[in-house]
Amino acid sequence: MAVKLVRRQYTHLLLPHASLDDPQRALFEVALRPAGWVADPDENSTMSLRWTKGHAALRVQTLGWFPLLVTVGPIGRPSAVHRDAAARLTAAVLAGGGRSFTDRQLVEYLPQAQLRWQRALLERQRLSTAERVLQARRCSYCGSWSDTSATHCAGCRRRFTTADDRERDTTVSRATATVKEAETALAELARGVVLERLGGVTHG
Ligand SMILES: [Zn+2]
Repeated sequence: MAVKLVRRQYTHLLLPHASLDDPQRALFEVALRPAGWVADPDENSTMSLRWTKGHAALRVQTLGWFPLLVTVGPIGRPSAVHRDAAARLTAAVLAGGGRSFTDRQLVEYLPQAQLRWQRALLERQRLSTAERVLQARRCSYCGSWSDTSATHCAGCRRRFTTADDRERDTTVSRATATVKEAETALAELARGVVLERLGGVTHG
């Protein structure tokens, strides 16, 4: 069976950001509005955006996060106005520090995008756990949480000992380091730093 070759209709773009949020939407808007495209207010989510110009419609679909991967394509028959829109979006993304990539690169990239998203979730979990630790201290006696600077336990009212304070200080400095590590990892994931390099982050 012969494989039918079609003219490439989809443009894949990588933006050095975690997800499709306001700055990226603004970037697309600024690129398309001067050419007469109007954003569809009903289709404006973190997953997909839609613009129309006359009878032509265009969709931007999210394919991955950390960094943001989107594909731009016509809804319906492709035409010159779609190609112009794709070129405008590509130029805006390149100017914003992103890049475009091919179908083949997309196939290679999608499994990685999945891993990166999972890694980002783990880093977010580490971050929120560490941030909680920075806000409260736990009583080794009754297990209650008190304000991190409290001198007495909010649960059993006993006075924290010097040993408790030392332990609290150790916990705080470990949590501070964890916050820094997790924030760095999340920023690198969003920027598109390769996964292998992120694996080299040391813990402890
Ligand atoms: Zn207590």
